[in-house]
Parts: sequence; C-alpha cells; structure tokens
Amino acid sequence: MKPSHIPFNKPFVIGKELFYIAQAVMSGTISGDGMFTKRCQKWLEEQLGCPKSLLVHSCTAALEMAAMLIDVGHGDEIIMPSFTFVSTANAFVLRGAVPVFVDIRPDTLNIDERLIEAAITPRTKAIVAVHYAGRACAMQALQDICRRHKLHLIEDAAQAILTEHDGRMLGTFGDLGCLSFHETKNVICGEGGALLINNPELIERAEILWQKGTNRHAYLRGAVDKYTWVDIGSSFLPSELTAAFLFAQLEQAESVIAHRRQLHAKYHELLRPLEHDGRIELPVLNGDYAHNAHLFYVLCKDIEERTELIQHLGERSISAVFHYVPLHDSPAGLFFGRAHGELPVTQNVSARLLRLPVYAEMTGQDVERVADAVRDFYVARSSGSTVRSSRDIAALNNTSIHETATSPL
Ligand SMILES: *Cc1c(COP(=O)(O)O)cnc(C)c1O
Repeated sequence: MKPSHIPFNKPFVIGKELFYIAQAVMSGTISGDGMFTKRCQKWLEEQLGCPKSLLVHSCTAALEMAAMLIDVGHGDEIIMPSFTFVSTANAFVLRGAVPVFVDIRPDTLNIDERLIEAAITPRTKAIVAVHYAGRACAMQALQDICRRHKLHLIEDAAQAILTEHDGRMLGTFGDLGCLSFHETKNVICGEGGALLINNPELIERAEILWQKGTNRHAYLRGAVDKYTWVDIGSSFLPSELTAAFLFAQLEQAESVIAHRRQLHAKYHELLRPLEHDGRIELPVLNGDYAHNAHLFYVLCKDIEERTELIQHLGERSISAVFHYVPLHDSPAGLFFGRAHGELPVTQNVSARLLRLPVYAEMTGQDVERVADAVRDFYVARSSGSTVRSSRDIAALNNTSIHETATSPL
C-alpha cells in the first residue's frame, strides 16, 4: 500500500474560524476595520505588549508601511540579511532605498550583529532584523547599534509570533514590527499580517497611511470635523472575513505553538544520531535565542546531497523544500542593492538547508516517518566522504541552486 502523502505545509482550522466568519457576515459589514479587526488588534496589543497594532493584508504590506513611516527616501541605505524573503528588501526598494546585505551568524542564521557597524555609512537609515525560523536576533546588540548611530530598528517578525526573548515578545523591540499570517506561518488566515507600532510618535501617522492617506481615524474619534486626504497611503486593510478567521486562530495560538514544539523536539531526538555521526547538522539549541518552533531544517553536506535527499523523500510521499535563494546576488538584488563583503555563511547555508514538514495537524508518527526516511537515505549512502568547504559550496550554489523546487516563504 502506498503511504499517505506528508505535505510540506497544510493550512488548518483549529477553533471557531467558521463560526466567526458567519458572525462577520451576519453583522452586515465585511469590509475592514470592523469588530474582528479590532478584536485581533486588541489581542496583539495585550498578548505581545505593544502600544498599537494595525491589521494588514500581509507582512509585505506591514513592511511597506514601515518604510513609509520612517520616511525612507531615494538613496537611503537599509541594512538587512540577504538570507530572507524578497519582501524584506522590496518594501524599501519601492521607496527608492538601497538594501545593504550583511551576512548571517552560522548558529542562529540571523543577521550577524558583529558585521553591521562596518556596513554603516552616512546614508544608512535603518536596520531590519529578520527573526529567521521565529528565532530571536541579538536584539540587545542591534538596539545598541541603532542608538549609537541614530538608526531606526525594524523587525521582520513574519515568522516570530509569540517568541519571548529577554522577557519581551519579538516584534516589540524595534520602532516597528511586522508579522505575517500567511498560510505557511504558525498562526494563519490565508493572507494577512500586522504592523506593531512600538514607537508612540509613529502611531498617528500609521493610522493615516492605513486609512489610505486620510484622517478617517481622527474623524471617527471626533478629533477633527472633516474626513479628508492628508498624506500618502494605500489599501492595507484585510476584510472582516479574514480578521474573523484570524481571531479564532489567535485564540488558539499558544496551543498551536506548543504542538509545534513537540514536533521539533521529536525531530531533534530522532535525527540527533545522524548529526552525531557527522552526516547532517540540526538547528542549534541555543538558549540565548528563543524561537517559536516555526520551521525545522537540516543542513546537508552540499547542494547535490540536498537535491538527492529531496528526491528520496519525494519517492516516499514526503514533501521537503528549501529556501532562501540569497537576495544579494539575485538579479534584482544586484540591480537595487549592495552586498557588504562576501556573505560566505549565507552562500553556504542556502545551498545546504532543507526544510522538513511541520504543520499543525502533523502527528508524532508523521515525524517518525520523515525522520526514518532521512535516516534510510544516509544509511544507504556510502560513508567516508568529506564535508565541503564553504567556498566550494558557494560555487555550486551559483550554478545549480535553481534546479529543484523552492519554497519562497
Ligand atoms: C513570510 C515572510 C514574509 C512575507 O509575508 P507575507 O505575509 O506573505 O507578505 C516576509 N518576511 C519573512 C521573513 C517571511 O518569512
């Protein structure tokens, strides 16, 4: 009998999603900024500890609002990792800015804070901290650098909902934090996101941009007597249907993450012998940098081995995908951005990283099946091969990384 398919990701319903959607429909209005939008925003403000949140239709939109709010202009430079999703860079490129790509740390795969100061120029306007896999960047160091150089700090916390670090939630450290509720993330609503506005000076203008450049919010509050066009803005709101779905998910967020933590622990336990034998590397268990079990990856020896492992898993009805194709030497990255140095860790990791399935309805048995398949792959291979240097991997990466299925998010 053919085993059932284990997808890479599977969107899920876990609580009152459909009930709340029905309630939204019955309420008579399903455009944005209604009851469920307000409930989601209140939840985020209370549970994450931020003075103001705005629900948006994607993390991409939240990043675009962040770029507008810090007044990014033509030629301004924004320091960020190359090992991230395109929206991190695009949001700023849309305002005419230049992404400056800095390498990542080999342990957390987050921007290497020790390399940042050398990348700062008089045009530097902000640092974007991307919390890869929902794992905290070195926030204290990043905050210190921003304070010393008078830079804005923006968090791309797309993957990082409810990660607590140094007694605070990720997304609330920077002037602005950006969350995603895309169906591949921990808490989902199809397409969705939130902008966390931690710097109180930015709240009033954030509401204006969010309301398409009008002072509708001030008008609704009775603070002004006319509702008119006062600034730039765009359509950033999700509909109430989306907000209703999301609110049900937020109510269950803790239990979703607790389950994902169990899946992670099981992967670690079952794959540790392979790591011990030097066949793969697993995510570092670094207690200083907490995470929310967003994704689980293994690092293969090199890109060929990864391609073969993807195929081996596929033959066993298991979908595994890799990311990210680095931004700094992508066509748009070369055109719009600038790399700070060689980025050897980014090159090395992006050629070797493979994401294994993790989703809300995944069972411990599913994890066992995936781990068994990974183990079978390595047992069947001849041993004795050596690990390649990062320079070899960088060369391979440039020639053949586009050959297999990639997951952009
Ligand atoms: C998912 C993701 C995004 C984009 O989120 P959307 O809600 O799909 O716009 C941005 N940055 C990172 C790091 C992500 O993982």
